[in-house]
Amino acid sequence: MREKIVAGNWKMNNDLAQTEELLKGIKKQWENNPGVRVIVAPAFTNLYHAFDSLRETEVEVAAQNMNENESGAYTGEVSAAMLTSVGVKTVILGHSERRAIFKETDEVLAKKVDAALKNDMEVIFCCGEELEERKNGNHFDVVKQQLERGLFHIAPEAWKSVVIAYEPVWAIGTGETASPEQAQEMHSFIRKTISEKFGEEIANEVSILYGGSVKPANAEEIFAKEDVDGGLVGGASLKAEDFLAIVRAF
Ligand code: 13P
Repeated sequence: MREKIVAGNWKMNNDLAQTEELLKGIKKQWENNPGVRVIVAPAFTNLYHAFDSLRETEVEVAAQNMNENESGAYTGEVSAAMLTSVGVKTVILGHSERRAIFKETDEVLAKKVDAALKNDMEVIFCCGEELEERKNGNHFDVVKQQLERGLFHIAPEAWKSVVIAYEPVWAIGTGETASPEQAQEMHSFIRKTISEKFGEEIANEVSILYGGSVKPANAEEIFAKEDVDGGLVGGASLKAEDFLAIVRAF
């Protein structure tokens, strides 16, 4: 179902005490925002704590990654079943940092998508081009390929559990945001690409989030665009006040 969503990706920030502090801030300033789903994605070690702490609010908890296997000899990894057992029903997959730093390929991501869906989890599937690719005019092809190779093998009915996050790599953590027009152009392209393969009805029901230097000062104009259904927020999600200001930008 197409929904408005603001998700905070905390990345590798916040130990337990800092997590508690941030959760406390979110709860204190929390107001019900009808019509907007709010999600936070802490590190693995703090997922259960966040889930438990946020029970009294409507804020949901997501993981930043997971392994594609069910269980077994994969030292250091975390499975979908482990995540659901601590109340996590959503996982971010294919973040550009996972792709670039941890060398996650489209093939691995496709398996992760399958494992998440098989375990009844929702997937926030990230895509986005690097600066060089945009400069060369390849950004549409790059994003299309990421979607086709990592996501488009799913069954049509699985789309109800998929959210897309478009995050141009050059806009992540750089302070440089895609303009609302650039975001709209790519989001509309993503919707068209989904429509060509799965039909208009499915494409119109998918939430497509924008990520990359979203902050209170620019959220409103980005979220106002027709095909932008919300944001995946990094840096600004680490301050309760900023994060909730972004939620209220809708
Ligand atoms: P910033 O908001 O810090 O640019 O990070 C975006 C991001 O990577 C969210 O997943």
